[in-house]
Formats: sequence, C-alpha cells, structure tokens
Amino acid sequence: MSLRLKLIGAFLVAVLSAGALAGTSLFATWSLGDIAKAMYERPFQAINFARAAQSDFLILELEERLSINDSNENLERLREDFFLDLGVALERRMSERTKELAAKIEREFNIWRDASEKARSDPERMAERDRIAERIKTDLDILVQTAAEDGYRFWLAAEEEVDQTKQLTIWILVGVLLASLLIAALLARDIIRPLNRLGRATINLASGDRTIEINRHDMTRGDEIGGMARSLIVFRDVMHEVREARDSAEAAAKAKSDFLAMMSHEIRTPMNGVIGMTRLLLRRPLGNEEKHFAETVLESAEGLMHLLNGILDFSKLEAGKLDLEILDFDLRRLIEGSLALMQGRAEEKGLDFRCNVDPACPPHLKGDSARLRQILLNLVGNALKFTERGCVTISVEPGAASDSYRFSITDTGIGIPEDKLDRLFREFSQADSSTARQYGGSGLGLAICKQLVELMDGHVGVESRIGEGSTFWFELPLPEGELPDDNAVTSTAALPPLSLLVAEDNLVNQQVARGLLEAEGHSVRIVNDGSGALAAVQDNPSGTFDAILMDMNMPLMDGLEATRRIRALAPPLSEIPIVAATAAATADEIKRCLEAGMDSYVAKPIHPGVLFDALARVLGPTHPEIAENENLFPEDDPAPTSPVAEKLVQDGPSLEPAILATYRDQLGQEFADEMVTDFLGAVDSHVAGIKKQLAGRSTSGLSDSAHALKSAAASVGLRDVYRAALSVETEAERDNLKECSESAETLLAALERSRTLFDNRND
Ligand code: ADP
Repeated sequence: MSLRLKLIGAFLVAVLSAGALAGTSLFATWSLGDIAKAMYERPFQAINFARAAQSDFLILELEERLSINDSNENLERLREDFFLDLGVALERRMSERTKELAAKIEREFNIWRDASEKARSDPERMAERDRIAERIKTDLDILVQTAAEDGYRFWLAAEEEVDQTKQLTIWILVGVLLASLLIAALLARDIIRPLNRLGRATINLASGDRTIEINRHDMTRGDEIGGMARSLIVFRDVMHEVREARDSAEAAAKAKSDFLAMMSHEIRTPMNGVIGMTRLLLRRPLGNEEKHFAETVLESAEGLMHLLNGILDFSKLEAGKLDLEILDFDLRRLIEGSLALMQGRAEEKGLDFRCNVDPACPPHLKGDSARLRQILLNLVGNALKFTERGCVTISVEPGAASDSYRFSITDTGIGIPEDKLDRLFREFSQADSSTARQYGGSGLGLAICKQLVELMDGHVGVESRIGEGSTFWFELPLPEGELPDDNAVTSTAALPPLSLLVAEDNLVNQQVARGLLEAEGHSVRIVNDGSGALAAVQDNPSGTFDAILMDMNMPLMDGLEATRRIRALAPPLSEIPIVAATAAATADEIKRCLEAGMDSYVAKPIHPGVLFDALARVLGPTHPEIAENENLFPEDDPAPTSPVAEKLVQDGPSLEPAILATYRDQLGQEFADEMVTDFLGAVDSHVAGIKKQLAGRSTSGLSDSAHALKSAAASVGLRDVYRAALSVETEAERDNLKECSESAETLLAALERSRTLFDNRND
C-alpha cells in the first residue's frame, strides 16, 4: 500500500473516531437531559394524579350528598374530571398495580354512581352508597401510596440509566484512545522509523560516508519509502564513482604541480650557476664579441629564470602552498619604490610615468606588501611593455568597500580586443599569437596576479580599447596599519635625489647597495676597489658625487687607504662625505675609520633604514634641506652592528626568511631572486677557495675567504653559513689553525646545504 493511502486511511480512522466520540457525547448529553427532566417530573406527576383523583372524588361525593337535585350536567362534568385524572395513570407509565387499582376504582365508581341514583329515590339505600364511597376513598388512599412508590421506582431506574450512559461514554473513549495508539504505532513502524533511517543514511552519505547500508526491508517496499531507499543506493554508488574520479583528478593535479615545482627547482639550480657565473664573467675584461655573447647568455638565462619563477609561483598558488606574510607597510613608499624600479624602463622608451595616491588613503596599511609589489610590478611591467608612446599611470584610491583600496594601472598602449578580455587572466593565455611573437612572454603573469589578488580576498579586472590603451585594476581589503618597525630609523623622506659612489668588491653587496639606493631615486656608480673610488673622484668634476659609500676590505686598495688619499686631494674634492661600510663594526675599526677621515659608518650587511640614516647624517651639514645631525658617529651606540647581523647571531632556522623579505620589500621580488642567484652562482668558487686554503693550512687565506662569504651569506639570510664564516674569521684572527680548520669544514657543509634551502622557501 502506498504511503499516501496509508496516511489517508489513518486520517479517515482519526476522523471517524472523533465523529464517534462526538456522537456519543451528544447522545449522552441528550439522554441525560431527558432523564434529568423525567427524574424531576415523573415522581411528582404520579403522586399528583392520584391526589387529584382523590380530591375529584371527594368533591363529587360531597356534591352528590349536598345537592341531590343539582343538574345532571354539573355532576357529569365532575365525573369526567375524575375519570380524566384517573386515566392519566394509564397514559403515564405507571406500574401494573397502579393501573389495576385505577381500573378497580373506576369500576367501584360506576357502582357508587348506580347506588347514588338509586339512593335518590330510596333514601334507605343511602347507607349502601356511603359504604361504597368509603371503599373508594380507601382505594384512592392506596392509589396515592402506590403512585408514590411508582415515582420512587422510576427515580431508581433513571439513576441506573445515567450510570449506563456514563459507562458507555467511557468505553467509547477508551476505544478511541486504543485505536489512536494503534494507528500511531503503525505509523511509527511503517513510516516514521523508515524515514528516520533513510534520513540518517542521507546525512551520512552527504558527510562523505561511502559505506552506508540500507535496511533490506525498506529496499523491497513498493511504496515511496522503497523508492527513496533504492535511489539512495544509486546515489551512494554514483557518489563513490564521482569521489574516485575527483580523487584521481586531484592526485593528477597534485602530481602536475609537484612535477612543475620539482622541474623548476631542478632547472633553477643549474640556472643559478649559469646566471651567477655569467655575471662574474661580465666583470672580467672581455673583448666586445665575448662581452656580447656573455650578455646574450645572461639575458636569455634571466628570461628563462623569470619563466621558471612564474611556473613555480603558479604551481604553489594552485596547490594552495603559498602563504601570505601580513605586515604593516608604508603605502606611498611601496608605490614609489615600485615606480623607481621601473623608472629606467619607462625612460628608455620615452614614456611619461606617473603615480597618483589619493590623499584619502592612510599612510600605513596592513597586508602582504611583497605580494602587492609583485602584482604592481607585473601590471606596470606589462603596461610599459605594451605601450610605445604616451604615459603609464599608477593610481590608488579608496575602494567601494570600507577598508579596501583600488589600484589601477592605466596605459596608452596597444589595447586589447574586447573578445580577448575575458580569457586574459587564464594561465598561458595571451591576447593573440602575434603579440606573443612580437613582445614575448609566457601568459602567466596575469594568471598569477589574479590568483594572488584572490588569495588576498580581492578582485581584479581590466578595461581596454584597442589602439587607445588599457586599465588593469584590482581591489584589495587592507586594514589600516601602523608605522612599520623598519622605518623607525629611516630618514629617507628628508633625502633629495643624490648621486652616490659605491666602492665595493662583493657582487652581492654591490647589488644590495645599488638596489637600495636606486629604489629611493638616487643614482649610483659602482667601483670594485679603493683605487677605482680614488680614480672616480679624481677624474670627475667636483660635485659629481654627493657622498661615497666605502667598503673597508677591498683588494688592491682598501677603504681606509682610499679615504686617506681622497682626503689628501685638493678641496673641494677632498671634502666629499664618506660613509664606511664595515663588516666588523668594532670600536677599534670605527676609530680607524675616523682617523682615516671617514664621516660615518654602516654595519654590513647593509640595512636600508640604517644606510639612509647614515647618509642623512653626513649630508646634513652640507644639505640644508636635510635635518642636521651633529652626531655623525653616535657614541650612545658603542658596539654598533647591523640589524641583519644581530638577527643572524641569534638561534633560528638555517635560512632566515625575514632578511631576504626586507630586501624583497624594499627592492622587489626580482631583486631578491637576483641576490640569491648571485650567491648560489658563486657557491662553487667559494667552496673551491676554502678547500684550497684548507689544503694550504693558511689562516689568513681562510680568514679572507670566510670574510667575503660572511657578508654575502648575511645578505641572503643564510644563518649557518654566516655563523660558520664568522667563527672561521674569529679563529683565524687568534691564529688557531686547528679550530679555524674545523670551522672551515663546518662552513663547507653549511654551504653545501644552502644550495637547496632557497628552493623550499615561501617567498
Ligand atoms: P605575458 O608574460 O605574456 O605578458 P601576462 O599574463 O602578463 O603574460 O599577459 C597576458 C597577455 O595579456 C599579454 O600577452 C598581452 O597580450 C595582454 N596584455 C597584458 N597587459 C597588457 C597591456 N597593458 N596592454 C595590452 N595587452 C596586455
């Protein structure tokens, strides 16, 4: 039977039971009412009729006696009244005895009437008449009494009837109750419980339990529950198949990203070598043709590296392995820094390059500034790439939602056809193949931007008109932040664009100095040693350089000697401010700096805030726009060390990500990657150098190798390498060959390990 029929049946039974209950109650109410009325009336009626008959007879007899000559008419009426009252006994349900008594009295009355007739003509018969009358009176008394008994009996019978009606009602109630319980039990067994079972199974299935089983009885039912049970089994099996398909698709996607990640790692490692060694090669004196070859190798290798980084980023994003690093940052500084990095490219193409930050945007925001910079650089890079004339503008304004900001990059370039707009943000997608041929590129940049923006809970879009230009925009929720710690010592805001000479022999340190200074809009000339610095000062007119950043330890001529010689030149060349870049910022070393004629110092590896602070200090006296600071060598900081070195001497992971992150934040991802590439490219030659010094058992040679390595390792945040190199240097200074050699072995091991450390980092 179908559920519908069962429910209709149950409903009918319920309605009929309720109807029966209502009928019984109505019937009981009616009959109880009748009985109550009868109980009240009938006993009185019975007695009343007997009394009425009694009084009728008494009046009749009296009339008979008194008015013997009265008209027959009057007597007839009295007789009718008497019989009428007596007749009531027959109509009302009196007992047989009462009825018989009434009939007897009727008969006796007729006799009495005959006797009365006769007594009228024969007075002697009066006595007989009176005797009969006396008998009638006695019988009437008895009638009154039996009528009263009848009344009492009737009352008893009524009472019994009331009890019976009550009992009947109770029985019907019990019957309805039992029927309801029975129906409820049947509904529970047949409908509610199976539905519960199916409901539980459905929930389990929905929550991923593929092993759900269905009651066999439910499965074989012919009604709707049976249908549901069988469908659920079908769903279970389908879901099982779908899950398996999804699992294997996910496994395939994971295998793909793992493969991509592994391949890009495997390729990145030798690429690091190619790029690093080519850069080293380019620093040697080369013939024009060789230089051209090497530059082409470097350009191609960098292009390939860029692509590999894109693939790695993309596979990390796809696999959800890219974590954001949320920190406070200075919005305007970030935008201007990004602009500065791209300025050269814009100038090369003769493009106007502008930036517009709405004054309503707060100075500091909280978010992953490195990723934000990556997105900006990508979009600005595209804008510059696809624009031949006109301008590229970055603007930032408050977004539609509160605490959100809209970044737009507008160009007056080639534009994008409308029908290509929607697929631009897909991976490996380019507007058309001719663009790809002409401009190169992998079509990954925008896909990475979109994924990064979405990872930050934002959204991205583009508006473009072919031939007129494009606007790429993204909107990000970025809560207001505070002044970042790094900026506490920085007085960059006070520095005008400067022309600086940097004397530094280490490639990584050259990169850092150039990157930091150029990002702030300063122009930089780099020389490899002290004699180069001296020559640059001598060969250029006075005022060419605003200041010199001078490394202390350099081959051929060190920083101290170069400073002394510069100070020995004729003024104003001799007055150029010189800032020492020192790896061992001890009080002794600072004293030597001062004696040689230097104006200030920064501890290496260079921290951006500290460097700008030092420049502000030395330039204050000659540049009135810079706040003057008399304290060129702050005495309240007697053992000055670089914040980077301070961080590295503390315990922590082999690779300290915060250090590269600082450079990445200041100078961009590409710059940070370049530093790593340069470092890794030089690892082999460092290893060979240390091994050679170990074999030659030369502490001073070991010290020199370790010194060069120490500052390079610190710049990229390699804690173990930095500490081992520091220990080699310290032991070498004490001339402890044994300890020095041991530390050198540790350094070699740390160096070997460092090759893989960068591939797993999350930057
Ligand atoms: P690619 O590495 O090829 O530049 P992107 O994902 O950054 O990869 O860009 C995908 C495509 O979108 C580009 O090849 C180009 O066709 C188009 N495109 C991106 N930005 C611009 C722009 N500013 N003007 C015109 N076309 C653009």
